[in-house]
Amino acid sequence: YSPVSPQAEPAERAAEAALRPSTLSEFEGQPRVREQLGLVLAAARHRGAVPDHVLLSGPPGLGKTTLAMIIAAEMGVPLHITSGPAIQHAGDLAAILSGLVTGEVLFLDEIHRMSRPAEEMLYLAMEDFRVDVVVGKGPGATAIPIDIPPFTLVGATTRAGLLPGPLRDRFGFTAQLDFYETEDLAQIAQRSADKLGFSLDDESAQVIASRSRGTPRIANRLLRRVRDYAQVNNGGEVTATLARAALELYEVDELGLDRLDRGVLESICLKFGGGPVGLSTLAISVGEETETVEEVAEPFLVRKGFIMRTPRGRVATAAGWAHLGLTPPQGAGD
Ligand code: ADP
Repeated sequence: YSPVSPQAEPAERAAEAALRPSTLSEFEGQPRVREQLGLVLAAARHRGAVPDHVLLSGPPGLGKTTLAMIIAAEMGVPLHITSGPAIQHAGDLAAILSGLVTGEVLFLDEIHRMSRPAEEMLYLAMEDFRVDVVVGKGPGATAIPIDIPPFTLVGATTRAGLLPGPLRDRFGFTAQLDFYETEDLAQIAQRSADKLGFSLDDESAQVIASRSRGTPRIANRLLRRVRDYAQVNNGGEVTATLARAALELYEVDELGLDRLDRGVLESICLKFGGGPVGLSTLAISVGEETETVEEVAEPFLVRKGFIMRTPRGRVATAAGWAHLGLTPPQGAGD
């Protein structure tokens, strides 16, 4: 695992749970989403009604699970958690839905990965609070309608575009989570440090935030690594110098590039004169699979504006050269 991977490592689930904000006002950043969602919940409370179904979309680590938990907590109801890949058969979904109590929140992560029959059952459940359970096979099969109590579905997806239109249309509220500003990440790191029982000065928080790739999960992870380093090397006291040294040890640079990201960028610049270079050649030159280079390293390098994908191959931009402290040769990237 890279320290800047946006996915949760299995072993860090408990550490993550301890750092989750539990109210909307503790949820940092994303001001528009917070305000809109706050309104949806307040209006539902005002009417004594169950809030509309909510769709949360955005890259991993930006707070979708956290928001689902906050919705349930703000409504004072239990949260049930499941995921698209966990629902293989429509019957699995029917069992979950029929077990709900009025007003409860069902969080369905990776909703775009549900099976087709389950998806169709979900349409009906979301709209009419009813499921049709098919009993028997062949010509004798009958659909038995079962009423389910009004509930709130919170669906999460990293790819809203992959959801079929009819499913997307059944959500009353859709929120697109964006990468966070560095200031928000610094706040998150400081709040997390408080929860972990140590203090983080502004400069150290900034060191962590600027390396966190706009992602709270990464900020919290880097914070934990910095804390470990401080415990072993400095009696637990974190300073900015120490935070930099810790993250250098983990090979996370000032802008959050890890070893692979830098390897790819350096290879394009130093071995291929800035490109264009084909993906497979590039992958061989850094000793990685093409998929790893394409799906793990490149998206962030492109997002940072350090490389471009062109029809002739990958090209380093002026910003990419500058990040390595190099000047592009005349005509590079032509
Ligand atoms: P996702 O479900 O989108 O992958 P999570 O909700 O699991 O992301 O969030 C990952 C981690 O980041 C959690 O530990 C959570 O506490 C933290 N986090 C996410 N968003 C925020 C936020 N806006 N404010 C504070 N902490 C956050």
